[in-house]
Amino acid sequence: SSQCGVLLLCDGAKQAATAFDMGVDEVAPSDADPQEIALRLSAVLRRTRDAESRRLSLHEGLRLAVTDPLTGLHNLRHAERELGQIAERARRTQQPFALLFIDLDRFKQVNDRHGHAAGDHVLIAVAAALSAALRPGDMLARIGGEEFLLALPGLDLDHARAVAERLCDRVRALEITLAQGPVIGVTVSIGLAIGTGTEPVNGLRDRADRALLLAKSKGRNRVATDRHAA
Ligand code: GH3
Ligand code: MG
Ligand code: MG
Repeated sequence: SSQCGVLLLCDGAKQAATAFDMGVDEVAPSDADPQEIALRLSAVLRRTRDAESRRLSLHEGLRLAVTDPLTGLHNLRHAERELGQIAERARRTQQPFALLFIDLDRFKQVNDRHGHAAGDHVLIAVAAALSAALRPGDMLARIGGEEFLLALPGLDLDHARAVAERLCDRVRALEITLAQGPVIGVTVSIGLAIGTGTEPVNGLRDRADRALLLAKSKGRNRVATDRHAA
């Protein structure tokens, strides 16, 4: 009923007041001229349609506020809020969770060689490949240009490392066809840290970030773990 308007034909101020109380949008006397009723009905419809489109654009605005427009993944804002909740749940349930920073290797070269649009295409393909590997409850977000964050609730170090290795393999196996014809491959480096929910999320992020730098410095296309991963 949020999408329809109601005009009630009724007589007397008291009846009209009751009608408005019940959610009627407009009233007209029962002996009103049909043309006047038609005019009032048009006004009711216009107001209802305006209200509905405001409601939809609010909904769309809320969705856009948590979505990365290029890949459709969650954005940094959503990731930060979600990560806080995952950490809190880990603390409460005493189940660890894994945090992965996933960064495309030498991505600037992709843009330099094939153009920015091709780079965007690669980002979309990698995002889709990573998404396809998720379980319910996992949280994947694009948090920077060519950087993704993945949180895996309930995983300890060994299991998380196995997942991270599989993601690395999955991206390496991609054959991405660019618009102008060439097929290219890319790799990612992954930094992994395990959280228990007891340390501040920022500390955990720093550890995952350090692990990512380690993966880069060891030659890229690999997973590295923070020394104090768990
Ligand atoms: P590394 O292996 O050390 O990570 O090297 P890299 O080239 O991936 O890293 P660097 O930080 O030097 O460059 C990242 C590049 O990502 C630079 C920028 O042009 C590109 N980039 C960032 N955001 C986007 C985007 O939305 N679209 C495209 N096409 N490129 C982007
Ligand atoms: Mg990079
Ligand atoms: Mg980067």
